[in-house]
Amino acid sequence: MPTRRETMALTASVLAVGLGASTRAFGQGASGGRLKVIATFSILGDLVRNVGGDRLDIATLVGPNGNAHVYAPSPADAKKVADAAVVFVNGLGFEGWLERLVKASGTKAPIVVATAGIRPLERADAHDHDHGRADPHAWQSVANSKIYVGNIRDALIAIDPAGKAGYEANAAAYLAKLDALDREVRETLAKVPPERRRVVTSHNAFGYFESAYGIRFTAPQGVSTEAEASAKDVAAIISAVRQQKAAAVFLENVTDPRLVRQIADETGAKVGGTLYSDALTDASGDATTYIDLVRHNLRQLANGLMS
Ligand code: ZN
Repeated sequence: MPTRRETMALTASVLAVGLGASTRAFGQGASGGRLKVIATFSILGDLVRNVGGDRLDIATLVGPNGNAHVYAPSPADAKKVADAAVVFVNGLGFEGWLERLVKASGTKAPIVVATAGIRPLERADAHDHDHGRADPHAWQSVANSKIYVGNIRDALIAIDPAGKAGYEANAAAYLAKLDALDREVRETLAKVPPERRRVVTSHNAFGYFESAYGIRFTAPQGVSTEAEASAKDVAAIISAVRQQKAAAVFLENVTDPRLVRQIADETGAKVGGTLYSDALTDASGDATTYIDLVRHNLRQLANGLMS
């Protein structure tokens, strides 16, 4: 299957970059006794923080409310990557800028693909072949995020065996919270009537959510936000909303809200609030952690679909 093969090829090339690190003394990746760790975006950074606790000094490249699809790394990012003991990435084509950044940085740190072992969904917009055909937004299923956490735990133990007991205990406690979260999502959404399980968002970041929790998403921008939705895309969505009788349209914190408002205006569908797709919020928002992000989205969906 081409999707799988392309994904594996990227994973293999990214992992190959990191092989040198195992033969290297582990000096430069430490900071005040804490391991210097990079996560490519805010959601992944929070998962790493929950497993690593105080042993890690974590920096993220794409920060809160940032859009990783169109990110342009800075020279400061290359320096951070060069100094890191390990770099955690989403993979599945999410960080199209990553390989160039890793090369430019000259880092010998292992590059750990947090989605390894997750079964990728094929992306809805197959026209953008440059970045592979897998949908990268795997964290939108809580069950998938548990796989991220296992990968993060195993990578940290491999690189810092002295922290093993702590990493295992932290991961176990956090995985239990994710189990409870997954139950909460299922129990809440089970109350949404079947005819109201269709919504529209601006870019299709919710394929894994749809597949896990049975809410149907339609999006004018496809899986990446690199291409602007054309007038034709928007017209197609408007007719889809009318045909499918979508119950609500939702804004996102990383894409152009005008699109969704236009669709709502022209179809009479309700604007259901803002869903957080690819990034946490900053401290002034209500999703500074992954768990809060999922809870926020759940509240927005429940309010938008059940009233
Ligand atoms: Zn996205």
